[in-house]
Amino acid sequence: MSRLFYQTRLERPQLDRADGIYMWDVTGKRYIDGSSGAMVSNIGHSNPRVLAAMKTQMEKSTFGYRLHFQTEASEALAERAAGLAPEGLNRVFFVSGGSEATESAMKLARQYALTRGQAQRYKVISRMPSYHGATLGALSVTGYAPMTAPFDPMMRAMPKIPAPRAYLDGLDPDDPATGAHYAQMLEDKILEEGPQTVLAFIVEPIGGASTGALVSPAGYMQRIRQICDHYGVLLIHDEVMTGGGRTGRFFAAEHWDVAPDLICLSKGFGGGYVPLGAVIARDDMVEAVLDAGGFIHGHTYAGNPLACAAGLAVIDEIEENGLMANTCRMGAHLKSRLSDLMQKYPMIGDVRGEGLLLAFELMADRRSKTPLPVEFNAFDRLVEIAYQNGLIIYSRRTRGGLSGDHFLVCPPMIVNEPQLDELIGLLDQSLSQFM
Ligand code: PLP
Repeated sequence: MSRLFYQTRLERPQLDRADGIYMWDVTGKRYIDGSSGAMVSNIGHSNPRVLAAMKTQMEKSTFGYRLHFQTEASEALAERAAGLAPEGLNRVFFVSGGSEATESAMKLARQYALTRGQAQRYKVISRMPSYHGATLGALSVTGYAPMTAPFDPMMRAMPKIPAPRAYLDGLDPDDPATGAHYAQMLEDKILEEGPQTVLAFIVEPIGGASTGALVSPAGYMQRIRQICDHYGVLLIHDEVMTGGGRTGRFFAAEHWDVAPDLICLSKGFGGGYVPLGAVIARDDMVEAVLDAGGFIHGHTYAGNPLACAAGLAVIDEIEENGLMANTCRMGAHLKSRLSDLMQKYPMIGDVRGEGLLLAFELMADRRSKTPLPVEFNAFDRLVEIAYQNGLIIYSRRTRGGLSGDHFLVCPPMIVNEPQLDELIGLLDQSLSQFM
């Protein structure tokens, strides 16, 4: 028995090595990393540039505590990240993961409100379903009862509005009226809670594990911004999964040309090479908090030079190799191949996503959008069959169809067409064994 444990007792083969989009276990079996781990290894495994940058940095220094030293790598990465962010968002706070990013964004928002004499503002509205992290603060805005319920007494659950799942509600996601319809739910919730008590709204511009690559309907992101502005509510974009080019733009919100007040970043930012994350914030917010005595928050490993050197090399790799353009091209190809599978397997009720953040959803009945019965255990079975076939796809246990039986297919952004066809072949084989 292993001394190690995670969520379950599930034991997996030991990983031996990984290269590009492939991984091998110690028996020599090969897997296609069809989900980039948990949508992390965006530039693929064992990238020589990143490894070289890490080695160079390691030979100089691996850790410099943020209160003792500034480092060239952290300064340079902050500069690059700020340069990629929307105008006005040019201050970077480093963390080591997505949950830390969510926590940090919420706390910075709160401290900023205090500098403005708005002590009553503390509620952070979010969506149901949504995922913003596993720590208690991040869980308070996560909309997924199976993960939050056991901890309810230990935290203050925050108000939720429905995620805009137009495909389930029979609405056209390309119709601006649909976006307006779901955005109105935010305004209604702000009014219900009392606008003077609402601090922020946190949203995944394109959903990740919670909604299975749910793309915001037309006009939604823009209308959300207007509503937040109107009520003095800060807008936090959680781009932990979408950031770093996965949707074909460095930030998913660029698809709608809207800017939030705070951005959370992780996963693809470190590309799976090192734990790395960041909050990118509006300059004036940060200045106000620093002027008022400082940000009462921080994590030990924040901004360590090794992580920042890796992060810089990841961005170089994305930009110099045109990986965002490749993501758009390969994403379109993969989406059309997934749509072909939808024609073949009536149980696939929806195919969605943007760039290489794509998902398909299984349903008992495509027309009525009836979810599969829980006993069907689609999550465990399909993921397992694919795994046995040497294909890794990502899902989450639905426990009652709350967020749908969706499966994320998100290979690294370096993937090419023959590799995608190989992936689809394995998925086709797995679906035929599953049905
Ligand atoms: N926010 C989003 C949108 C995520 O997808 C995740 C992880 O899946 C998190 C936050 C939490 O990130 P981490 O697991 O690195 O704490």
